[in-house]
Amino acid sequence: MTVDLAVIGGGMAGLVTARTAARAGARVVLLEAASTVGGLVGEHRVAGLDLDSGAESFATRGGQVAALAADLGLPVVTPRSAPARVLHSGRLHPLPATGVLGIPTELDAPGLVEVLGLEGLTRAREDSRLPVQPATAELTLAELVATRMGPAVLDALVRPIVRGVHSAEPEQIAADVLLPGIADRMVAAGSLTAALRQVRAAAPAGSAVAGIDGGVHRLPAALAADAAARGAEVRTEAPVRSLRREDGGWRLAGDGWSLTAEQVVLACPPQRWGFLDGDELAPLAAAGRAWPAPQSADLLTLVLRADALPEHERAGTLVAEPGQGAKALTYASAKWDWVAQAAGSDRVVLRLSYAGGILGTADLAEVGLRDAARLTGTGPPWPAEALDGIAHVRLHPPAPAWATSSVRGPMQQEADALDGLQLTGAWWCGTGLAAVAAHAADLAHRQ
Ligand SMILES: Cc1cc2nc3c(=O)[nH]c(=O)nc-3n(C[C@H](O)[C@H](O)[C@H](O)COP(=O)(O)OP(=O)(O)OC[C@H]3O[C@@H](n4cnc5c(N)ncnc54)[C@H](O)[C@@H]3O)c2cc1C
Repeated sequence: MTVDLAVIGGGMAGLVTARTAARAGARVVLLEAASTVGGLVGEHRVAGLDLDSGAESFATRGGQVAALAADLGLPVVTPRSAPARVLHSGRLHPLPATGVLGIPTELDAPGLVEVLGLEGLTRAREDSRLPVQPATAELTLAELVATRMGPAVLDALVRPIVRGVHSAEPEQIAADVLLPGIADRMVAAGSLTAALRQVRAAAPAGSAVAGIDGGVHRLPAALAADAAARGAEVRTEAPVRSLRREDGGWRLAGDGWSLTAEQVVLACPPQRWGFLDGDELAPLAAAGRAWPAPQSADLLTLVLRADALPEHERAGTLVAEPGQGAKALTYASAKWDWVAQAAGSDRVVLRLSYAGGILGTADLAEVGLRDAARLTGTGPPWPAEALDGIAHVRLHPPAPAWATSSVRGPMQQEADALDGLQLTGAWWCGTGLAAVAAHAADLAHRQ
């Protein structure tokens, strides 16, 4: 069998690549190792409910994912607006609604003094008077926030957001990675808060995230079906075992099959590139071995009987304190109408996320009920009889962009040297469906 394009990996990146190329008329085969497509976008059944097991929303920036969903006939939904809160020094505080990465831009906002303390707020206000240093671009996010606004803003607001969303400490990330162009913006605006106010003003109106009615796990299945309808072959349980250059094309082989492709797209992370064969691919394989290892993350999804729970506010929470507990809670039934409707008025659904390795051999129900109480500020663990169902998922997201910056150059060089081979996926272009869909579509158009 000979095709124009072989895509290795059936996560969102591979699926968007395959569908876009098939729609442009290419003969495409997509090869996915697992029994279903989707990769980190998956589905599981908990207490009779079909819920997202990985990604559960997407950033609306760029508009590609919403456009893709609309094109596939999937209804895009916006989350209910519920204030995010932060657990700091054992107390829950609302996160500033006008913040960027937790950095408050309106220092008169109600509630800010409670989370920062009077001293912390006074220090934060110094930002508007401090001179702007031109070397800001080289600072870590922690250095930038601490020098401009003091340690209270860093520890109470920025750290939990960066830890929860980017799985990193602010000390590990250059300010410019999460706040692109911040040095120039500060020079122009005169302070960090003024620069971030301009960033917010320039952002499109409306919710920054959206979802799919019934769950974002509907996207991969719909993409695969549409790609197949356009003539692409989507194979699951088809791990690629060997890829090599042969007669000017690419020879791919798996368990009992082989095919030839003119072009190949690697849409799976370098840790899975054991299939790169032959001298020509040896330098790319070496660059892949130098790529930082993926992280690991644990998710607990709990379905609970509402009448057995103590009174509590139903809102998303981020945790500030380091320690052994969950780093974030998403109150799925308070966030999404479709989850609330599926669960019914007598049940609630929430999801707890943990940095990899924290859960160990703990009793998951016990841990989940304890952290649900802690993150909703309700004290003692929620009662075991409230639990209608629980599910545990361990995922391996790729290393974040800040950890890969030094290995990108060599990888790009090796890939550029190979005619007809392209790279895509969150490991390469950045985490999140918005980044992945935009990059993969662009790449497929260039085939
Ligand atoms: C816990 C968690 C929550 C998240 N939540 C969100 C969210 O709410 N919103 C958001 O936008 N993003 C979220 N993300 C990020 C988002 O899910 C990912 O960025 C995106 O799904 C990555 O897609 P991908 O195609 O690059 O990679 P993957 O989904 O990892 O796909 C790679 C695929 O390659 C396959 N593969 C590997 N080796 C082979 C081989 N030899 N042969 C064939 N196939 C192979 C794998 O089986 C896999 O299916 C979340 C991630 C995690 C971990």
